[in-house]
Amino acid sequence: MSDCIFCRIVNGEIPSTRVYEDDLVLAFEDIHPMAPVHCIVVPKIHIATLMDVTSDLMPYVGAMTAAAQEVAKRKGISEKGFRTVINCNAEGGQVVFHLHMHVLGGRKLRDELG
Ligand code: AMP
Ligand code: ZN
Repeated sequence: MSDCIFCRIVNGEIPSTRVYEDDLVLAFEDIHPMAPVHCIVVPKIHIATLMDVTSDLMPYVGAMTAAAQEVAKRKGISEKGFRTVINCNAEGGQVVFHLHMHVLGGRKLRDELG
């Protein structure tokens, strides 16, 4: 979707600091980090919300999980611990309507994104 900010990051129209990438997903630094480590993992196709993940799209969700593991390793927080968050729709706090997983860590977390 040409008007979707995360699609534009995926296709390089909007700059980002890439942390991990494979055929299915991209991970990049959040522009407004809420913790010392705050990355965003997105599928490389436009899926609006978690509720739009149908069975044929499940490989993207698996790839997002594997990417979160890789981000945690690369950022040095896999052993200390971290948090993954997927906000869904308005009351879930979703602002960008392209499915994404937050990866947060680097300090003791409280109720960020709550
Ligand atoms: P959510 O509230 O779950 O939709 O989170 C959207 C996240 O995307 C927020 O943490 C924003 O800081 C982040 N974000 C928005 N625009 C950009 C951007 N251009 N580059 C990186 N992160 C962004
Ligand atoms: Zn999109």
